[in-house]
Amino acid sequence: MLELRQKLTETVRRMAAAGLNKGTAGNLSVRTEQRGESGFLITPTGMAYESLKPEDIVFMRLDGTHSGRRKPSSEWRFHRDLYAARPEAGAVLHAHSPFAVSLACLRRDIPPFHYMIARFGGATLRCAAYATFGTQTLSDNALIAMAGRSACLLANHGMLVFGKDLGHALDLGMELETLCEHYWRACQLGDPALLDAAEMATVLEKFGHYGQQG
Ligand code: 13P
Ligand code: ZN
Repeated sequence: MLELRQKLTETVRRMAAAGLNKGTAGNLSVRTEQRGESGFLITPTGMAYESLKPEDIVFMRLDGTHSGRRKPSSEWRFHRDLYAARPEAGAVLHAHSPFAVSLACLRRDIPPFHYMIARFGGATLRCAAYATFGTQTLSDNALIAMAGRSACLLANHGMLVFGKDLGHALDLGMELETLCEHYWRACQLGDPALLDAAEMATVLEKFGHYGQQG
């Protein structure tokens, strides 16, 4: 458990180093068990990443109760709801990264301008309907936008992504921010050409066995 807390604090610092977050924006969690209870470890609310110690990390159960000396992230609901609804989610990352935030302020889905959109499970990357930070409505909207996907934008707010573990969630978060940057840059030059449904279906199928999968 201590090892996982350390891994979480290291990963959250890597989020900042990678430019995904500044200050106290964003949050990170990892699915785990504590004394036979299933739940997740999550970053505390409103604490600068540089100062985080393993003991500042909060253990939460799926019923929303928590233990530890700190209060959990104000966004614990979408972390909890993802673990409850998506068994494949092992770690959840939320960031206010610059390109994802900029696009999320347009409240539009990102279309298939690049094949890497399929990395997140579909032919588009959806933008969840706006709701106030930390609310159950925001979590409900995010889960709708993430149906069949491992990421979404949060309108006028940021990005949300999950992976099988902390390293995977961080990798996907960085890929998503890069994709948002590419889309932003292409839009400066005109209307990007879009891949059609048949091509995206081909790419989705290829991603099913891409990389070093067993
Ligand atoms: P917390 O510090 O409560 O995790 O909030 C940061 C954030 O990004 C809220 O959306
Ligand atoms: Zn946020």
